[in-house]
Amino acid sequence: MDLQNILEGIISSLIATMISGFIVFLYSKSKGKNKLMVGKSHKKFDISKINAFAVFLFITSFFAVISAFGFYYEWEKFPYLVFITILLGFLTALIYNNQCPNCKRIFTKITHEPEIIKEEKRKHIHIPSTTYLYSDGTFKNRKSSNRRETIIETVRTQKDNFSCRSCGHKWKSNAYERNLDDKNSPKNNVVKTRHKNPDDSIF
Ligand SMILES: [Zn+2]
Repeated sequence: MDLQNILEGIISSLIATMISGFIVFLYSKSKGKNKLMVGKSHKKFDISKINAFAVFLFITSFFAVISAFGFYYEWEKFPYLVFITILLGFLTALIYNNQCPNCKRIFTKITHEPEIIKEEKRKHIHIPSTTYLYSDGTFKNRKSSNRRETIIETVRTQKDNFSCRSCGHKWKSNAYERNLDDKNSPKNNVVKTRHKNPDDSIF
């Protein structure tokens, strides 16, 4: 480690802290209830009262900015930084999806029966096809059949219902569509041939 590495480290950490701090500031201002500490003002510091999503949002943004600097300065550890950022991103999404929008506690969410808004049959035309692969499993060609199959699918529009085990708050997801016949929809044929991939035979 030389002076330049140390300077790069200090500069990128400072900028990452500023950007992450700004992102969390925007989040806490976005809705009235997005406070960083849950509940009324506290004299004592209580770790269970911290808004876990805000904390993870900060850490993930920090690592995302550090990764960008790692790319720019061509640090050796760059792939590890990207890996950590992706992992933190997943954790942050997991926390966000399991957090009560009212009291901000995590993993207190109970899922109830969804509210079904509408259910409709949709028709679409399916053209059966067969995909042929070379002996090494790579793509050779695809042939479509002349047949046309009409498929009827049931599509349900629903909203999911949730409640909080801790504060009793109830909320709904946005409306979204679910294809109830997803598993029964026809799959196309895949055939592995004995033909060798011509690209391989050059060597
Ligand atoms: Zn709650």
